[in-house]
Amino acid sequence: MSVRPQPRPGVMQIDAYVPGKSKAAGGAKIHKLSSNETPLGPSPKAMEAIRTFDHLELYPDGAATRLREAIAARYGLDPNRIICGAGSDELLALITHAYVGPGDEGLFTEHGFLVYRIAILAAGGTPVVAPEKDLRTDVDAILAKVTDRTKIVFLANPNNPTGTYIPFDEVKRLHANLLPHVVLVLDAAYAEYVRRNDYEAGLELVATSENVVMTRTFSKIYGLANLRLGWMVAPAHITDAVNRIRGPFNVSGPAMAAGIAAIQDEAHIARAIEHNERWLAWLAKEIEALGLKVTPSVGNFLLVHFPQEAGRTAKEADAFLSSRGLILRQVEAYGLPDALRLTVGDEEANGLVVAALRDFLGGKHA
Ligand SMILES: *Cc1c(COP(=O)(O)O)cnc(C)c1O
Repeated sequence: MSVRPQPRPGVMQIDAYVPGKSKAAGGAKIHKLSSNETPLGPSPKAMEAIRTFDHLELYPDGAATRLREAIAARYGLDPNRIICGAGSDELLALITHAYVGPGDEGLFTEHGFLVYRIAILAAGGTPVVAPEKDLRTDVDAILAKVTDRTKIVFLANPNNPTGTYIPFDEVKRLHANLLPHVVLVLDAAYAEYVRRNDYEAGLELVATSENVVMTRTFSKIYGLANLRLGWMVAPAHITDAVNRIRGPFNVSGPAMAAGIAAIQDEAHIARAIEHNERWLAWLAKEIEALGLKVTPSVGNFLLVHFPQEAGRTAKEADAFLSSRGLILRQVEAYGLPDALRLTVGDEEANGLVVAALRDFLGGKHA
């Protein structure tokens, strides 16, 4: 056998992340409801910032100073505690690389976001999965999995793909019972959408502890997924470590300019929240009325459960919906083979999904 380069242990155990589909068979108009993108698009002010961006020949500000200042002003934070990244995915990977190596364990929940497993394996660590209860994070189950080797715990709150959340009291209880050498990452990608009095993204915990990091994204409610922009806030010793391994120019100038405009356009975000509140409730009610189970969600997406009966399975539903140009997300890779994840779309797409599900369950052919 010829000798050739071998990846580090762990790398070949990774199943590469499969993004939501964006194409369907046939010629139907496509409604992409598979990646939790916003149907409202980005703020027009963010679009204008990109259109008027000049000087692509110059390197961007590697410290993302103006964007960090805009984020800090919006949330009342110290800009020195913020790091910006090419999507929060990059930041999740950087935090993991800074704290996890061979022999270390990284923890996340049963149906947690797939990027955590990839980041832990890529860093040479061992992924450890804590069971959930009714598709919801179970703090005691996470605590039961913590060992001396645990270096990081990821909590998506709300979680993707389940759409469930745990109240801030529970997050604080998790933190209070964690060993102090463990980094707790609060991934709050959908925080802006949550309308619950007992929910908090976790800024208070970041400010008052030495081991909590919060990550946020411009990909979801801000509608800038294509630009790749996210940020994290952390104690100073963690930002110091992460900044040492961060690429020096990891965020582009157009992304920063759009991010600054987007975070200042509160009216656009208010519209997105209002749209989601209305249509999330409508979709849940209509789909349940068809006899399908829906997991209560606080995000901009819904997990829809299908029976294991021939002709009515999630796989068959996916094929049927696709033939009508309605692209949902299969979530088998998340351990949910009988469900599909549906992103809240615009009025037209939402209506088409409910009508298509009605026809599917009624035995109609596409
Ligand atoms: C979409 C999503 C992200 C954001 O990823 P980006 O890299 O910022 O686009 C992070 N965490 C979860 C749970 C998500 O669903």
